[in-house]
Amino acid sequence: MPLSQRLPLGQLPTPVMTLPRLSQALGGPQLLIKRDDLTGLALGGNKVRKLAYLLSDALAKGHDCIITAGAAQSNHCRQTAAACAQLGLPCHLLLGGEPPKDISGNLLLDHLFGATVHWCGEQRKGEDAAALLAQLKSQGLNPYLVPYGGSSPIGALGFVDAIHELDKQMAEALPSHVVFASSSAGTHAGMLVGRAQLGHDYQLLGINIDKQPGELPFDERIYQLTQQTSELLATTTTIKRADLHLLDDYLGEGYGVVGDAEREAISLCARYEGILLDPVYTGRAMAGLIDLIRQGRLNQQHRVLFWHTGGAPALFAYADQLQLT
Ligand SMILES: *Cc1c(COP(=O)(O)O)cnc(C)c1O
Repeated sequence: MPLSQRLPLGQLPTPVMTLPRLSQALGGPQLLIKRDDLTGLALGGNKVRKLAYLLSDALAKGHDCIITAGAAQSNHCRQTAAACAQLGLPCHLLLGGEPPKDISGNLLLDHLFGATVHWCGEQRKGEDAAALLAQLKSQGLNPYLVPYGGSSPIGALGFVDAIHELDKQMAEALPSHVVFASSSAGTHAGMLVGRAQLGHDYQLLGINIDKQPGELPFDERIYQLTQQTSELLATTTTIKRADLHLLDDYLGEGYGVVGDAEREAISLCARYEGILLDPVYTGRAMAGLIDLIRQGRLNQQHRVLFWHTGGAPALFAYADQLQLT
């Protein structure tokens, strides 16, 4: 199958910056940051990279509306809704939970972009997609299903590119570790494939954000997606299971539950660097990075790049849990 083109949805390349004040405060490795919170579209985030391929595929195949799914404060859904608005495609969002009294954060933006929201109770990962797909088809529409988190081989291509983008920016001095929030496999798998293509050996260290009940173990899902993505690209690079570094130590009280570690990470980045993290993903991933530094597992022999994957619009919906004393 010929690869779909990438739509110009995002402002790429995103900047790589140093975090001098945070590095000094933590006393560990030199810290750098890749600013995918600045991908441009609708307050940015990592899903823009995946959607650039997924929505290109949808248009190439003649679809006329989009379905995707996520939590009520899904960044993926917000970015999908915005991209659909730009492309003139009706967008249907299957959101977990019940209609809330206050519409804020990402959900507010979903509405501004004109998306149709379907509330799905416990089902925040698109379990109801088949029924909606059938319903829209019966109305004569031709819907395209963007998978949960945009994590399919086509979506993962966005992060294969992202690693090539990083390579061009940092070819002189690659980091020893890249730390990021890992949740639906696409970011992690795409990065692994891109790194394998380039033959680099820096460690891609995913901080698991979401307990993954039932189905396949999360690391197995990431691994399978690397294989499918390599197949789609017809690359011959081999990725071993041992290349896959996923830390399950920072799941806290579960998906989207803000604890002291997330609060501290958000506060440190804001106060030392003027950078906003988000309560669900990057706050937790940075909390993991801070803990690894405090344990000495990441230290002054290392050079660590934190991949900021976006999400700050959710801060406003979590205001009551982020009050700092
Ligand atoms: C979706 C998301 C992630 C995780 O990316 P996956 O490809 O789903 O693992 C990380 N950070 C933010 C802010 C996100 O919205």
